[in-house]
Amino acid sequence: MRADDGRELRSFVLEEETPGQEARAVERRVLLETLASPLPPNTISFSSRLKSIRKDGSHGSLLELEDGDSIRAKIVIGCDGVRSPVAKWMGFSEPRYVGHCAFRGLAVYPEGHSHKAKVNYIYGRGIRAGFLPISSTKVYWFICWNSVSPGPKIKDPSVLKQEALNLVRSWPEELLDVIQNTSEDVVIKTPLVDRWLWPILTPSASSNGVVVVGDAWHPMTPNLGQGACCALEDSVVLVKKLATAIRSGRHSAVDEALQDYSRERWARIFPLTVRSNITGSLLQWDDPLVCAFRNNVMVPRLVSLGPMLEHTNFECEMLEQSVTSV
Ligand SMILES: Cc1cc2nc3c(=O)[nH]c(=O)nc-3n(C[C@H](O)[C@H](O)[C@H](O)COP(=O)(O)OP(=O)(O)OC[C@H]3O[C@@H](n4cnc5c(N)ncnc54)[C@H](O)[C@@H]3O)c2cc1C
Repeated sequence: MRADDGRELRSFVLEEETPGQEARAVERRVLLETLASPLPPNTISFSSRLKSIRKDGSHGSLLELEDGDSIRAKIVIGCDGVRSPVAKWMGFSEPRYVGHCAFRGLAVYPEGHSHKAKVNYIYGRGIRAGFLPISSTKVYWFICWNSVSPGPKIKDPSVLKQEALNLVRSWPEELLDVIQNTSEDVVIKTPLVDRWLWPILTPSASSNGVVVVGDAWHPMTPNLGQGACCALEDSVVLVKKLATAIRSGRHSAVDEALQDYSRERWARIFPLTVRSNITGSLLQWDDPLVCAFRNNVMVPRLVSLGPMLEHTNFECEMLEQSVTSV
């Protein structure tokens, strides 16, 4: 952890602080390919965006795709991200902008990079950045900064990269090197949003055989690094419950399994969404006095890594082969 002038505030060795814990950085492409690879050929239809969804009789839904195809389904699992059409149809509100935006990018060093295998955080006033190697040739980076509005949508990738560089112009050289080694077309800007799943006020995650998973249900800010992890947890919990219900052969068992998933996951998701939001507000401090306290007292002396990472513990048993194949 460093200040924006390069001064080291604190460093941790993960294994010493929280024995048994590990941090893994996984490239999205690798994760998706790994998840897709065991599926039978043609299970996934690419480039078929969902246009609309409606109830189809008493036991199913009719999905209309933008390419003109339609699908009748007994169970619909909406894992269609933060602007999910499925969540919208189920009555969820639009996610709420939280006052910060993020740039993300992936630097590529074809001959290999010299960055150490560690997570680097750099704190400024109302802005922070980080980078970490994800392989011997690739380094992931992000910048997160305060902005009263998400600003206009910028289509020109060279403008995005330049904007990112301008934000951290005088920051440590290593960070600038990583951004400079990033191809313009992989720099993305994301306004950060979340949705708080208030009991009673928010719809359930499932209704009439339609269920939402991941960001479609619980968009959360990235401050705890848990959005994708929770989406994976959702999927494991849901598939186990669905497999048992489908095997039972009872029609009502599926609806019960979906409701059960909704209840069980809410208890983990809601507190994490709130905590992530509050953490973001603290990390994005821009008051000079508060930032001086953070850099000179809080981070060097008060922060302890174990409790900070406690939220990453989730006991997830192995999926049996019979479950994955139902
Ligand atoms: C700056 C930043 C940093 C982050 N860092 C981390 C981190 O360190 N750790 C972590 O765990 N999470 C992190 N996240 C969060 C993580 O990216 C998301 O939580 C995760 O991608 C959610 O996965 P998902 O499958 O639910 O949605 P997505 O990954 O958004 O996938 C949704 C899919 O649905 C598709 N889709 C959208 N609309 C339609 C439609 N109409 N029809 C068909 N398909 C559609 C999209 O094309 C996409 O393939 C970060 C997020 C941000 C913004």
